[in-house]
Amino acid sequence: MKKLTMKQIEEGTGGRQIQGTSQAVVGEICTDSRRAKAGDLFFALIGDRHDAHKYLGQVIQAGCTDLLICDQAALEETEGGDQVNAILVEDTTKALQNLASYYLNLLNLKKIAVTGSTGKTSTRDMIWYVCQEKYKAQKNVGNLNNHLGVPLTILSFEEDTQVGILEMGMDKLGEIDLLAQIARPDIGIITNIGLAHIENLGSQEGIFQAKMELTNYFGEENTLIVHQDDEFLNKERIQGSYRLVTTGFDGKSDYIISRIDDFGAEGIQFTLEHQGRTQRFSLPVPGRHNAFNGALAVAAGAELGITMEEAARGLAKVQLTDKRLTVRGKNGIKVIDDTYNASPDSMKGAVDVLMHTRGLRSVAILGDMYELGETSREQHSLVGNYAAEKGVQLLVTVGKDARYIAEGAKKAGMKQVRYFPDKKAFLKEIDSIVDKGDVILVKGSRGMEMEEIVKNIME
Ligand code: ATP
Ligand code: MG
Repeated sequence: MKKLTMKQIEEGTGGRQIQGTSQAVVGEICTDSRRAKAGDLFFALIGDRHDAHKYLGQVIQAGCTDLLICDQAALEETEGGDQVNAILVEDTTKALQNLASYYLNLLNLKKIAVTGSTGKTSTRDMIWYVCQEKYKAQKNVGNLNNHLGVPLTILSFEEDTQVGILEMGMDKLGEIDLLAQIARPDIGIITNIGLAHIENLGSQEGIFQAKMELTNYFGEENTLIVHQDDEFLNKERIQGSYRLVTTGFDGKSDYIISRIDDFGAEGIQFTLEHQGRTQRFSLPVPGRHNAFNGALAVAAGAELGITMEEAARGLAKVQLTDKRLTVRGKNGIKVIDDTYNASPDSMKGAVDVLMHTRGLRSVAILGDMYELGETSREQHSLVGNYAAEKGVQLLVTVGKDARYIAEGAKKAGMKQVRYFPDKKAFLKEIDSIVDKGDVILVKGSRGMEMEEIVKNIME
């Protein structure tokens, strides 16, 4: 972060300095009391479970002398509390968001925001590799993509950052609006409209509307980029005062995708055609769906003057954030670790990767997909159906609704299907189920913590 004085923090948060000097300079923003250190500005956030004002003593002990709080009494009761520089605000979360907006105005950078049901992190990472070919780019760390993660990401941008890439997640209406209001992106990207969070949003149309909040503050100078093979994302449905750029197989797309070659765990290649030019891309990441994410990244780069040849160099270097289709091998077994998360679309994409990866036997170990509401049973069953149709040789399903994955597969005629109500039951029998020479896909929703299974296989 660019260094800011307490005076600027006061201005940026809309707070009031209640003690200490306004000339103190802060280096980084910290919201985790266990990590606070000298030079940080500590934001005492109040969450559903924790009130960070309880830890002010610990933070001061760690050497932190600049605090931002909303509970003055808590500071007064803290030992050493009268020795620090402190700014009082009404709401520390809101103050963090305000400061992020203020901070962006001090920098001179282009901002790209990515939302969508699946592929946000993957697309964001790819955009970063494309932009790095020409600019200094920064992006969210890990999956910090919500009302706290996005402001914290912004506040981690260095002064000379030229492109800021922001993944934005949501599970309700209004959340993307807030993030768009904070970041005011120049370029917005919507990867797709799936079924995640349909519980909160009622329908896919509702999910579409929620993602479209990304454009709420757009004007003529802004660009929205969408993957238009998605039934919701096309020129007929999306009309605004901004520019719309599309990617897709459809010959009418601005970036036409063709010839995807799948090399299993090694990655893929694909071709893009744009304004009469053609470029071949190699992406060292498995999964045909990554061609869609890659195309979006190329289109985003082009908005910043990055040519397709430059983008191709960037994409050839991509390494995705951990647990997304990472291939690990041990004892003659190959594990495709996609345990980070799961949705119906990404389950099917991962099954495709499994089927393109060489091994003696293809095994899919699939856990529950969360947050599918009333559609859950049907969606689980469709995944089972898909695995059967694609020729997966052994299907193991683990969890509650995963029962319907097994059911769907059996209905589609698959014989080698095992169902376990929980991980524990499966892990007891794992040794008799997996075998040397297997290629094994492991995947489920974040809450299923399927990585425990990967760990077990690797041991
Ligand atoms: P989250 O909402 O958890 O932040 P995300 O949108 O950031 O997820 P990623 O982490 O990029 O998505 O990918 C999640 C899963 O979706 C991975 O299993 C990945 O292989 C798969 N995936 C990525 N892109 C696509 C896509 N365009 N279509 C279908 N599946 C995809
Ligand atoms: Mg993500």
